[in-house]
Amino acid sequence: MRRITACFLTAGMMLSLCACGGMQQAEEPARRQIFAMDTVMMVDAYGPNGEAAVEETEQAIYQMEALLSRTQEQSQVAALNRSAGEVVELDPQLQELIQAASRYSRETGGAFDITIAPVADAWGFTTDTHQVPEPEVLTELLGHVGMEHVHLEGTAGTVDAGTEIDLGGIAKGYASDQVAQIYTAHEIPQGMVYLGGNVLVWGRRPDGELWRVGIQDPADPENPDAFVGILQLEDAFAITSGGYQRFFEENGTRYHHIIDPSTGYPAESGLLSVTVVAPVEEGRGAMCDALSTALFVLGEEGALDLWRQRTEEFQLVLLTEDGRAVVTDGLAEAFALQEESGYAQEIVS
Ligand code: AMP
Ligand code: MG
Repeated sequence: MRRITACFLTAGMMLSLCACGGMQQAEEPARRQIFAMDTVMMVDAYGPNGEAAVEETEQAIYQMEALLSRTQEQSQVAALNRSAGEVVELDPQLQELIQAASRYSRETGGAFDITIAPVADAWGFTTDTHQVPEPEVLTELLGHVGMEHVHLEGTAGTVDAGTEIDLGGIAKGYASDQVAQIYTAHEIPQGMVYLGGNVLVWGRRPDGELWRVGIQDPADPENPDAFVGILQLEDAFAITSGGYQRFFEENGTRYHHIIDPSTGYPAESGLLSVTVVAPVEEGRGAMCDALSTALFVLGEEGALDLWRQRTEEFQLVLLTEDGRAVVTDGLAEAFALQEESGYAQEIVS
């Protein structure tokens, strides 16, 4: 006897990871709840090595945070941001991540840019002291934005004076790649990893069904049960960026945390959220994360153009301001729109 179970993950939180089904005994996963990188994370692993895997994952995430945080003064990113032309030694992980970020910056025509940091600061997103900056301030700061201001030299690197990097748009996806390596090493049969909007589903659910990942309703971000649709997935990354995830309002206008590097203002591309889905392969977590941020900046047309060049690598669900859920054809089977969502589904090829 099988029971349909609600095993939804949302951009807000993980509700349940019930591998539960009627009469059958539910195997409990090893689980860690972690607060790191400014988000609540949930890490589940099934099987005999589950406990070892989640323990190692927790340690790895704290280590990554200590390395990559902008706000922890002792971190290497903070040291790099203070370097102003003087080279500093860099950990290989940080080197690798900056190189990946550079590649995604190139591939997205600069829509993804980790040097947006001083601009994000001016909007107060780093310190939660939100304000609308003066246009002249943004113009001045934009002069320090661009990957040409970041220099990697062997095992060391530096940034030009006035330039700073913020890996917030890619670090959690990179972390999910590290988790995939840990799960592989521990031969984890099934698992689910939720790093604040970045989901990794590992294998299938223990009852043999696909994992169900909810796509958050941008209009109701506080409600973890409000989905526009559900993705049924196995062995995949599903990473969402949306203006609803962090924002403030001033004089009736909403300003969110994803900045268009070509203007210095929050991206206004007609999209409410971008979900990038890719099969578990090396580096795809960081790719999905960087692309979800970049494609949110580029908008529907730019996002679909890039997808059409790279359909083998990733698939998309775009929620548009005019009420459409645009789904690339590789997810046609996997995606189910919630009828009451009010969105109209479009499958594109
Ligand atoms: P995500 O949630 O992955 O879309 O990342 C959003 C975070 O990335 C923001 O909080 C900023 O720290 C940073 N960010 C904002 N705009 C950009 C951009 N255009 N490129 C790269 N990182 C960005
Ligand atoms: Mg991202």
